[in-house]
Amino acid sequence: MPPSFPVVEIFGPTLQGEGQGVGTICSFVRFGGCDLACFWCDSDHAVDPAQVRNAPRMDALEILARLRALPSRAEWVILTGGNPALFDLTELVALLHADGYRVSCETQGTKWQPWLRDVDLLCLSPKPPSSRMPFAPLTLIEIVSRLRPNQPWFLKIPILGSDDLGFAIDVRGSFVGVALYLSIVALPGETVEQVLARTRWLHGEIVKKPAAIRNNLRILPQLHFLLWGTEKGH
Ligand code: SF4
Repeated sequence: MPPSFPVVEIFGPTLQGEGQGVGTICSFVRFGGCDLACFWCDSDHAVDPAQVRNAPRMDALEILARLRALPSRAEWVILTGGNPALFDLTELVALLHADGYRVSCETQGTKWQPWLRDVDLLCLSPKPPSSRMPFAPLTLIEIVSRLRPNQPWFLKIPILGSDDLGFAIDVRGSFVGVALYLSIVALPGETVEQVLARTRWLHGEIVKKPAAIRNNLRILPQLHFLLWGTEKGH
């Protein structure tokens, strides 16, 4: 029997709402199961153990078949969660490449998997103090040290308040020159205007910082939230 994985959503084509690929047309495969439980998590269906237990289990071929059955084909497939790095997705990444997809993965940088070297774009998204989760800097450094030379990757750090901004600046201090995307958190029930106000606040804070901190740094509200709110399937 090939290995199978809990998959809570496969959807697309849609827009990548965050990070370096923002605005690109993509389809998402969201795996169930996470080693964290962030205070403001917007993917409860991929984290809550009861919901993850009830998620269908699919092997790599079944996931590819579901992607092919979507209304139209996207250039990129995003592997996300939960934490997709909880699973051995070596075969899935190889199948997706063989089928002509470009593959991106979003993970929080808490677990290493050798297949992370195979993806075309890797987002490492350590969680800041407002998540109320612990952070293990040495684990993140170890993961980055194992990536292939010149592998495209970036840091994406959610920002709710000033402690998070301090955290983001500290983390990027370990990875000089790496692209840093500051992604504005939307708390449950918040409106677009509240999120845009937080974006303006962050911009005001960033322009007060020394210029060197702003190199290769971008501030982005989540595009999917601005377009569709918290509606699932986008
Ligand atoms: S790491 Fe991501 S999926 Fe897991 S609890 Fe935090 S926000 Fe949710």
